[in-house]
Amino acid sequence: MWAFARPIARWMADQITRAADRTREEPMETIVGYCDYCEDSTAFSHIAIHMVNEEPPCEYTFCKCSKCERPAVFLREDVGEGFEADSFWRMFPKQERHIGFALPTVVRGSYDEAVKCEEAKAWTATAAMVGRALEAVCRDYDPTTKTIHEGLKRMLTNGAISQEISDWANALRVIRNVAAHATTASVSRQDAVEALDFLQSILEILYDLRPRFMKMKARHGP
Ligand SMILES: [Zn+2]
Repeated sequence: MWAFARPIARWMADQITRAADRTREEPMETIVGYCDYCEDSTAFSHIAIHMVNEEPPCEYTFCKCSKCERPAVFLREDVGEGFEADSFWRMFPKQERHIGFALPTVVRGSYDEAVKCEEAKAWTATAAMVGRALEAVCRDYDPTTKTIHEGLKRMLTNGAISQEISDWANALRVIRNVAAHATTASVSRQDAVEALDFLQSILEILYDLRPRFMKMKARHGP
């Protein structure tokens, strides 16, 4: 009657062994990331990797900076396509985001809130705030804009954004739509963090690099 128990017990033992195998201590390849102490992009060499079988499965990589030897911990998640499909996110020292140029008030407020949500690991809220910032960018360009989709289309048609920026912004709009609707679909850490990464780059191009380029061009004449 308990004939099925043996395969289950074997399966469970197999899972435990696999989980144990997943804590590795041998040095692995390096992770390239920004070191706050060196204030530079450096190579972090692995000390140990620890896997946690939660939902989604997490991979914690303990490293040291190859220049200053200070420690760092990186996280990757397996949301169904393996850990390799995720990018490394630095948990310690905490990855700081910073925008050091002027932004329209509503854009700044939404961006700052998105960063706070990211710090609180509230991924759906992060994506929702990224969408709010994007909407504010569209309204800053044209106050009559009703939807992000319409706003981006108008900005692209008028040459205010390139095709590439339009593609990035539309991808953020799709992630934001998942975040904004009360369905069972949730936003992964990777999607939320990358949405904020791309938003940051869009803001940098529109509100920092472009105005600086115009000034540079004006300085040097036609
Ligand atoms: Zn360092």
